[in-house]
Amino acid sequence: MQQRAIHFPETLVLVFWRNLILASPNLYKGDLPIVNTTLADRTVKRAFNFNAGPAALPLPVLERIREELLDFAGTGMSVMELSHRSPEFEAVNNKAEEALRRELAIPEDYSVLFLQGGGSMQFAMVPLNLFVAGKPVDMIHTGAWTAKAIEELKKLAEMRMAASTEADKFTRVPRPDEIKLSPDASYVHMCTNNTIEGTQFTEMPQTGAVPLVADMSSDILSRPLDVKRFGLIFAGAQKNLGPSGVTVVIARKDLIERGSDKIAKILQYRTHAKEKSLYNTPPTFAIYVLGLVAEWVAQQGGVTGIEKINSVKAKLLYDAIDSTGYYKCPVEKESRSKMNVVFRVASGDEAIEKKFAKEGEAAGLIGIKGHRSVGGMRASIYNAVPLAAVESLVSFMREFERKNG
Ligand code: PMP
Repeated sequence: MQQRAIHFPETLVLVFWRNLILASPNLYKGDLPIVNTTLADRTVKRAFNFNAGPAALPLPVLERIREELLDFAGTGMSVMELSHRSPEFEAVNNKAEEALRRELAIPEDYSVLFLQGGGSMQFAMVPLNLFVAGKPVDMIHTGAWTAKAIEELKKLAEMRMAASTEADKFTRVPRPDEIKLSPDASYVHMCTNNTIEGTQFTEMPQTGAVPLVADMSSDILSRPLDVKRFGLIFAGAQKNLGPSGVTVVIARKDLIERGSDKIAKILQYRTHAKEKSLYNTPPTFAIYVLGLVAEWVAQQGGVTGIEKINSVKAKLLYDAIDSTGYYKCPVEKESRSKMNVVFRVASGDEAIEKKFAKEGEAAGLIGIKGHRSVGGMRASIYNAVPLAAVESLVSFMREFERKNG
């Protein structure tokens, strides 16, 4: 049985019911206002979810949310119904930040911000705040998401192409010796994991005194991270951190202060840093879930433990792709992502690939169709995708090959 506090205007409806109930004293069992609910006792079917984002969330986190949904911490309210100015939400906000700081070993001289607008908003917010006139931004161009960043950047700043793998159709990330950086850049922009192309950096570029800005939307919290190497990190939560709606920015405090105070207040990093991400109404529920996900990561042995599991999952899948010649991965081996595994049937037959995705879905393997811009197949195997899901995909691949190969 769960107790729920009732808000106005529900009270008007309750007055009616109270009068009705009081008129029949045999039915009246407690103090108003109380609503009794029970969760239906049933088995819940869970898919093997390979979506690129929003993506799978850890089952224990979902169960905890379900448990706390109607009465969070004895408030009689759901987290979604708490005021963002209440001490209860303040505790949620602090806990989420602390958990993320702990799991990513974020140093004290970095701020952690919970913003809205997704990675896409950061494509504008970063140059707005960090570009210094006369000091072009060095861009490391590795795919569709850096293309989007470039599009925004060019409206707001000057840019130099420090490296690009476009000539190789983004099937790899550049080698360190291919990245030509200027010591005088405002900052360097990179994307550590290219969600669409299935490539990932294992070695981060050395940028010296120039701040390195990294879009980590699709691989944050998937492996240990040396935050000190970066000036600013941003990531939409909807892959490894939680639900969509919250965007994490981790930024060195001196860079937070770099932006002009002439920028619209909501777009200045300092506004959000000063107010602990409570300048305006934050995405409260998403922040709450992010905190739970970070705690779950701790229970998996932290990012070191998570990385081990991620490596096992990725190896299993890439080995299956490489083993028989029926499938192929277009990505160069050294650049292969452990988060988004892109593959095709070696024949390149699109009808067969469509059949693969369709039959996979019927078998409970959701989201394995490749991004519409590149075709083929893509399995996103973020932290919360269990090994059993990958094992199931691999046996489906073998069976599909047997029938269609
Ligand atoms: N960067 C990367 C690497 C992404 O994968 C995505 C979304 N898939 C984005 C940026 C854009 O994020 P959002 O949709 O949250 O704006």
